Amino acid sequence: MSWTRPRSIRLSLTVWYVGAMVVVLGVYAACLLIFVNQGASRSLDNRLRGDFHWAAEMAEQRPDGTVTWFEGAAADEDNPWLQVWNANGALMFRTAVAERQPIAESGRLALHADNSIVAVPTATVPIRVLSGHSKIAGKPVVIQVARSEAGMRRTLRDLMITLVLSLPLAVAAAGVGGYSLARRALVPVDRIVERAHSITADRLSERLPVANPDDELGRLASVFNEMLARLESSFAQMRRFTADVSHELRTPLTAMRSVGEVGLRERHDESAYRAVIGSMLEEVDRLAYLVDRLLTLSRAESGLARLSVDVVDLRELAEEVVAHLGVLAEEKHQLLTIEPDGSGCSAADRVVLRQALINLVDNAIKYTPVGGHIRIRVAESPEGPTVEVSDNGPGIAAEAAAHIFDRFDRGGRPRSEDGGGAGLGLAIARWAVEVSGGHLTLETANGGGSSFRIALPKAVCTTP
Ligand code: ADP
Repeated sequence: MSWTRPRSIRLSLTVWYVGAMVVVLGVYAACLLIFVNQGASRSLDNRLRGDFHWAAEMAEQRPDGTVTWFEGAAADEDNPWLQVWNANGALMFRTAVAERQPIAESGRLALHADNSIVAVPTATVPIRVLSGHSKIAGKPVVIQVARSEAGMRRTLRDLMITLVLSLPLAVAAAGVGGYSLARRALVPVDRIVERAHSITADRLSERLPVANPDDELGRLASVFNEMLARLESSFAQMRRFTADVSHELRTPLTAMRSVGEVGLRERHDESAYRAVIGSMLEEVDRLAYLVDRLLTLSRAESGLARLSVDVVDLRELAEEVVAHLGVLAEEKHQLLTIEPDGSGCSAADRVVLRQALINLVDNAIKYTPVGGHIRIRVAESPEGPTVEVSDNGPGIAAEAAAHIFDRFDRGGRPRSEDGGGAGLGLAIARWAVEVSGGHLTLETANGGGSSFRIALPKAVCTTP
């Protein structure tokens, strides 16, 4: 794991939040400093202009050119400088502050007096000087006022110190607040994780807590809960299947065991032994048949069954099945017929489709009593070709019809009545038809009996 990748969303959210706060507060502090600096500079200039007007008016009132100037007890830097120059550039008057701290450039500035304010650098802080023309007793003079930038600088420095001290505090407070907010927001995640840990294959009925079904975490938990419900039902189905399979496999094995035990118990003649072995082989056949069907189903379900799709002539297929199973029908004196007209072709795996039809016809022979009639009808409709297998047997009860295609479903028939089937034939037939792109349905047969209908997608018949 990379060291740059944070191990918790909480932490990375806090880091991002703090980062954003630093940028925002930094920009805010910079803007504030610029704004305050400009305001202080403007106010210093305004004070200078006020000083100048006051001095000009005062000077007007004193013909000797002297000016009474207020000099408070404050430090020099807080008092304004005042100097008055005559037209020849000679200094006529200056206040005590100006005398104590002469301004280096003042003479040159007085010569070029234009009412502008100039910042003159000194060894410490610059001094702003305003030089402008005025008159004393009708004679032109230059009045020069000046103020130090020290006060303004002090204000800015104080503000900067306040910001530098308070910004880290604000960022730290934001970090703590952000972390606790993120923690609160992510509490449902911890609950989900905790519950998810406890959900195992045996406890699939449990669900993740959904604090608010409308927010992102709630929706996530709901989606997981739906997935859990699907898993639970698949697991239940799998368990049922395993139980059914074990039960089906145990029955012939138990039969073989009891037949064998009876055979061993006493001495028998050859024909009795033959009978014992014969009935054991019957059970072996039954087992092999069951295992074969289970294999077909499991291949079908895992998608491993390989299909070779070809155009299948359905009438030909029906004739082939009739030829294959005709003997069984004959044994029961049943009539197994294909309706004289009707044809149709579909693109499917011939072997798979044949298996489906064999299962349906085999069932019809098995469940229709002696002397019954089994009809196969191939037809073509605009939606595609169909094959119908109907019989005049006992039919299937409406309540059994709903799950007759489920694995191991015998339609409510006890094992002894169904000729040894495990209830897998229709499940296999349905898979075989569906994998060919069709549908297998149980129709209600007219005048009793059952009728199964295979509907397939249409294909153009290729002439042999
Ligand atoms: P099996 O392999 O036992 O025949 P199927 O899946 O083929 O199992 O059939 C399931 C059940 O459906 C059978 O046990 C039977 O009760 C009923 N069934 C199937 N076909 C017919 C039919 N033609 N007439 C009456 N019942 C039928």
